[in-house]
Amino acid sequence: SDHSLVYPSSPCIDWTTHYPAFAHAGQRPSFADIGCGFGGLLIALAPQFPDNLIIGLEIRVQVTQYVQDRITALRATTDDYQNVSVVRANAMKFLPNFFEKASLTALFFLFPDPHFKTRKHKARIISQTLLAEYAYVLAPGGIVYTITDVEDLAQWMRAHLDAHPLFQFVEEQELRNEGKGPILDAVYGATEEGKKVERNAGQKWLACFRRIQVKKIN
Ligand code: SAM
Repeated sequence: SDHSLVYPSSPCIDWTTHYPAFAHAGQRPSFADIGCGFGGLLIALAPQFPDNLIIGLEIRVQVTQYVQDRITALRATTDDYQNVSVVRANAMKFLPNFFEKASLTALFFLFPDPHFKTRKHKARIISQTLLAEYAYVLAPGGIVYTITDVEDLAQWMRAHLDAHPLFQFVEEQELRNEGKGPILDAVYGATEEGKKVERNAGQKWLACFRRIQVKKIN
């Protein structure tokens, strides 16, 4: 459970190197895209949320470099994109090294690797253990966005988040009513994987959860 984990007193990342234009403000990322792949969500959201720092976490070195180059190229041509960056990381290994407690308002898991075989399920990015870390780094009221084209994984993510006392399912329409429509549109369609699913006319299962303050009774 979340009480038994020991967390570092402060994360070890110097964010000013990622966001030089924001260095004076001492700001930290508030949106994190876990397994950001080629960065489609990051690039879509950055100009729409210029006051939020957005970070992608990606485990593959070359893919991370690609996203970094993409951001560098964009920054060279416009004033936008100062608020977006990427870091190579295994997000399943101690996320609190990156993010302070309750510092994030949005956490994205978009088309994560399905790990179909039962013996591989422990490699899934949504699990009871990892949910404790996600709850820790998310601010109360913050949203976990999940989407997948794999029905079995959709059920898995939904079941695990439903079972967690600190996450409450929230309807897409409720989020749209709160003004989060642009985020949801990007979740559905801005990532490279999301576009691929569209080209193949695949189905997409969205499930969003709010980080609640008081434990819910299941
Ligand atoms: N979210 C992107 C999209 O929608 O296009 C990428 C989806 S792709 C199927 C999954 C991505 O998660 C891959 O780029 C993979 O390298 C990355 N990934 C897998 N495990 C990870 C981990 N433990 N930490 C960070 N990234 C991871």
